Amino acid sequence: ILRVEHLRKSFGAHQVLNDINFSMNKGDVITLIGSSGSGKSTLLRCLNLLEEADGGAIIFHDTDLLASHVDINKMRQSMGMVFQSFNLFDNYTVLGNCTLAPLLTKRMTDRKEAEALAMTYLKKVGMDDFAHMRVTRLSGGQKQRVAIARALCMQGDILLFDEPTSALDPESVGEVLKVMKELAREGLSMVVVTHEMSFARDVANRILFMSAGDIIEDATPQELFTNPKDERTKQFLSRFI
Ligand code: ATP
Ligand code: MG
Repeated sequence: ILRVEHLRKSFGAHQVLNDINFSMNKGDVITLIGSSGSGKSTLLRCLNLLEEADGGAIIFHDTDLLASHVDINKMRQSMGMVFQSFNLFDNYTVLGNCTLAPLLTKRMTDRKEAEALAMTYLKKVGMDDFAHMRVTRLSGGQKQRVAIARALCMQGDILLFDEPTSALDPESVGEVLKVMKELAREGLSMVVVTHEMSFARDVANRILFMSAGDIIEDATPQELFTNPKDERTKQFLSRFI
C-alpha cells in the first residue's frame, strides 16, 4: 500500500531525514519509535505532504506522491493524521469537526449523509452522545477520540498518529489506546509514533526504530524487544524497563 524509498529532508543545513526506506502492507500497524529529534514527526509530515521532502519517493497505490503531477490535496485526504495536540476546530461542535473536511473537500456533498457517516465513526470511538457539544468542553481523552473520528471520516487508507497520547492525563491514555487497538483489530493500516511501549509490543506488527534521521531497525515487536540488533536500540529500550 505504501513504499518509501530514499526519502530525504533538510531544514537549512540540518539534515533531518537521511535515507528513509520502508514499506507497508495493507492492515499493517507500524509503530515508529526513537529519541526526541530523531525525525519521527518530520517523517509523518512528509508522508502526508504537510512537509515537502527534498528527494526520494513515496509510492502510495502505485503513484509517487513526490512526482509533480500529483494532486496534493487529493492524496492528503487519503492519509489522515491525528496529532498530539488534537488540532480540533474550537468554534465547532463535535459533529461539525467531523463533517467540515468531507464537505469542504467535496468528498461528500450531502450534509445529512456526512453527518450520518460522522455519527457512525463517533459511535465507534464512543463519542456519539457528545455530537452536539462544543469541543472546548471535552476532556483531553474525549478530544483525542473526536480527532480520531474526524480522521476516519475522510475514509482514507492509512491513518498517521503523532504521539496521540502524550498530551493526555494518565486516565485518558487508556481510553484512547483502547480505540486505537480496536481500529488495529479491524484492519486499519496505521503508522503510530508513540512512547507507549506496551502498545508497540501488543498491537503493532512492526516497529521501526529511528535514530538521527535513519531507520536503523525494522523488526517485529518480538524481535525488537528480545533481540535488538543495534546498540542504539538497546540503549533506547533500556530507558523503558
Ligand atoms: P520528538 O520526539 O521530540 O517529537 P521527533 O523525532 O518527532 O522528536 P522531529 O520533530 O521530526 O523529531 O524533528 C527532527 C529535527 O528537525 C529536530 O532537530 C527539529 O529541531 C528539526 N525540525 C523539525 N521541524 C523543523 C522546522 N519546521 N524547521 C526547522 N527545524 C525543524
Ligand atoms: Mg515529534
